[in-house]
Amino acid sequence: MTPNREDYLKLILELGGDQEQISNKKIVSGLAVSAASVSEMISKLVKEDLVKHIPYQGVQLTESGLKKASSLIRRHRLWEVFLVEHLNYSWNEVHDDAEVLEHVTSLTLARRLEAYLNHPEYCPHGGMIPKESQTIHEKKRETLTSYPVGTQIRIARVLDERELLDYLVAIDLKIHEEYEIVDVAAYEGPITIRNQEKTLAVSYKAANTIFVDKL
Ligand SMILES: [Zn+2]
Repeated sequence: MTPNREDYLKLILELGGDQEQISNKKIVSGLAVSAASVSEMISKLVKEDLVKHIPYQGVQLTESGLKKASSLIRRHRLWEVFLVEHLNYSWNEVHDDAEVLEHVTSLTLARRLEAYLNHPEYCPHGGMIPKESQTIHEKKRETLTSYPVGTQIRIARVLDERELLDYLVAIDLKIHEEYEIVDVAAYEGPITIRNQEKTLAVSYKAANTIFVDKL
């Protein structure tokens, strides 16, 4: 599947692009696309005034980019909650269907769905669900790659990205779990985390998209 402009806007927002510059490198790993396709899409988004681009630093959403991304993410995340809570989807299965549903969801449907779900605040991946016409301000957090050995952390939010989620299911890492960082391998090697039940080696690439709270 080739990511479209909405996918880019959502990813930039998920990476914190409402508050700071997001590097092309992070977008490349988040969408699993080539650096060339990222630059191409970014110039389109700049022309449409959805992002600002500062060469060698990255992109940040404009006000209209933020509004657009927020309203898509709202619908996406409401469906995710519905699929997980009512149709027994697991957190790595919801993405594709939520992706389709978000584009065919009217304001009314989103409003009713939200009420039916009892106004959830977070999606199954720990992302904030904005209220109607509210923009997203995700709590500012560092990723798992930002902390040294010995840090106690809680998994607070992960990118809503299919390959990442499949990987997390495979290594058995779940949201809200707490760990200590016990090893950080050199040269962007894996980061090893441990708690009483398990020891996991998380690839550097995945760790870059896992947001944690320091305990
Ligand atoms: Zn989600």
